Parts: sequence; C-alpha cells; structure tokens
Amino acid sequence: MTPPNLHVSTHPAVLHKLGILRDRKTEPKKFREVVRELSWLLGYEALGDARVRPIKVTTPLETMDGHELGDRIGLIPILRAGLGMVDAMLELMPTAEVWHLGLFRDERTLQPVEYYNKLPDATSVDLCLILDPMLATGGSATAAIEVLKRWGAVRIKLVNLIAAPEGVDAVSKAHPDVEMYCAALDRQLNDKGYIMPGLGDAGDRQFGTGKSGE
Ligand code: URA
Repeated sequence: MTPPNLHVSTHPAVLHKLGILRDRKTEPKKFREVVRELSWLLGYEALGDARVRPIKVTTPLETMDGHELGDRIGLIPILRAGLGMVDAMLELMPTAEVWHLGLFRDERTLQPVEYYNKLPDATSVDLCLILDPMLATGGSATAAIEVLKRWGAVRIKLVNLIAAPEGVDAVSKAHPDVEMYCAALDRQLNDKGYIMPGLGDAGDRQFGTGKSGE
C-alpha cells in the first residue's frame, strides 16, 4: 500500500521525461537536461504548500493585495547525484539557501557516513527539501533527515526522481512526518542496491563516469 506521505507524480510531462531518463542510450548531456526539467516539475509539486504572506502590489493601474513567499526554503542536495537537481530548484525559488550534504556508505557496516556538512549551528530555514535522484535503501535519506532534525529543521520534504519500495518503507517508518515526492515508484532493489528497473547510477549517468550499474 502506498503510504500517505508518498506523492508519485502522474503528470504527463513527468512520465514522458522519465522515459528519456531511463533509456540506456540517453547521453550525459541529455540526461542532465532531463534531471533538471524533472526536478523543476517535482519541485513545483513539493513546494505547493509553501507559505506566502500578504503584500500590496501596485500595477500600472492600481494597488492590489498580492503575495510573497513567506517560508525560508533550504535546499539540501546529497552529494554527488543531488547536485543536478539544484539549479532547477533555484530557478523556482531563487531566494533558497543551498546546504550541501555529503554521505557515503561504509562498505563494512553498510551505514551512511557523513563526510561533508557545512550546516550552521542553528537552522536558518523554515522548509527543507532534500534532493537526491534515487531513493534506494533509504539509508542516506534517513541519515540526512536525522542531520536536519538535529539541526532544528521541523518541516522536511524529500524530492527524488525514482524511489524503491524499500526506501519508501524505511523513510515512512523512521520519519512519518517527512513527505516524499517522486516521479516513479519502481519495483524493487537488486542485490547490489540498484533500483529495478531504475536508470542505473544517477551520479555516473549525469557526470559520464562508470558503467551505470550494468
Ligand atoms: N543510486 C543510484 O544512483 N541508482 C540506484 O539504482 C540506486 C542508488
């Protein structure tokens, strides 16, 4: 059953672009372009309940009641694959702060280890969006959420391009308050931790490194 905190986009533009992204023949240049476009569309959905405050706007004809963004938005890309999602989100929310988080999986313990974190002592944002193209085991996502909660973040959302049921379960169980937004919920993880059918390694495919899970 799909948990209530998971939002899988059904927008035709998202479905179309996802097909291009998954295709093994899609080259890194096109892949990066589509990651950016999908991030924009998912970001638009994820930010649908960001708060606004009333302002007065004067058009060439008269003064009216308008709105401006009230929430301070924090973007937290998980290095390295999350980097490709940042620019699109900044186009949507130009005043957002970007806080990079580096996590790798310890081969012995299989637990995520933080290797880069420049968050200031106290939270400076109202709404955090964690950006990572793939929600696989959920290990990095839960670790990132824990870092942000220790930082004092209260409203946290996860934006992924593709999610695996295993990752969705892990996040839902550990952090039922975190909303997840993705373009697709795939079938399962394979024994190497890749999402099936997935798209391979999202970092390799963006940056032209490796053989993308084959
Ligand atoms: N990370 C990726 O880049 N791809 C997967 O399939 C799983 C984790």
